Amino acid sequence: MSNNLNTGKVIIAGAGPGDPELLTLKAFRYLQEADVVISDRLVSEVILEEYVKKNALVLHAGKQSNKEGSTAQHIINELIVEYALQGKLVVRLKGGDVSIFSNLLDELNTLTENQIPYEIIPGITAAAGAAAYAGIPLTARDHANAVRFLTYYKADLLEENYWKELAQTNDTLVFYMSSGTLDSLVSKLLEHQIETDRHIAIIEQATTPMQNVHACNIHEYAKKWSGNSYMSPTLIIVGKVAALQQEFQWLPNDLSREYYFKPIEKNKKAEARA
Ligand code: SAH
Repeated sequence: MSNNLNTGKVIIAGAGPGDPELLTLKAFRYLQEADVVISDRLVSEVILEEYVKKNALVLHAGKQSNKEGSTAQHIINELIVEYALQGKLVVRLKGGDVSIFSNLLDELNTLTENQIPYEIIPGITAAAGAAAYAGIPLTARDHANAVRFLTYYKADLLEENYWKELAQTNDTLVFYMSSGTLDSLVSKLLEHQIETDRHIAIIEQATTPMQNVHACNIHEYAKKWSGNSYMSPTLIIVGKVAALQQEFQWLPNDLSREYYFKPIEKNKKAEARA
């Protein structure tokens, strides 16, 4: 890769799912060095307040399924390029892991087009964080040999044949960005005769002090919780393994109903704290 002498560098790093201590040492080291940090909404404020170098510029550029108040990807790309071309060390900090349901490819294309050097640092994805903090092994002998990361954020995303296969597999199913379609998700799996031993765990604000886990047999979901709304962000785990939560949970539910992650304020896109 050719490199202009004045060009800075971009570190695309995962911040983990919530608990600030789930940040990698490598991401921490770069946060201590960075001139500019461009952060997602689902990044702990503690990380930004305590781990970032004191005089660094911190920009909040959260994306939230194209909801109002989130920053358009092209604006995030422009910010990254603008600061890197000024010779700055930029950390682009993303919630969870950098490559799971995130716009990593878009950002990489922007960096290569502009010949900006970069590094990629993985993070703990929400599935791994939520499973650990809820006491659910994602794969386990006699339960599931594989795990799938999926999303169902709008109702027509998955085809009937796909639902059929999902209902019949032994794999653990983890759904990101799907709490708004949860009733429909459950009824699709029941429609396609999901086994009677499959459970569902709904994990709100996983790995944060506001974590709550709701778990039951998936066949009882509609009776118990149909129409419920959940605190953002929420992750859904479906499979035989979700039943293990009852035995192995180690963190009590938080009943405060407070939000851990700051909602994005309208007209405050890419707000600076410097
Ligand atoms: N790159 C992220 C995922 C981004 S998509 C990762 O690897 O984790 C955003 C979705 O991730 C949310 O809608 C939610 O389903 C899930 N998520 C992220 N953080 C979470 C948390 N602390 N608790 C529960 N779900 C979370």
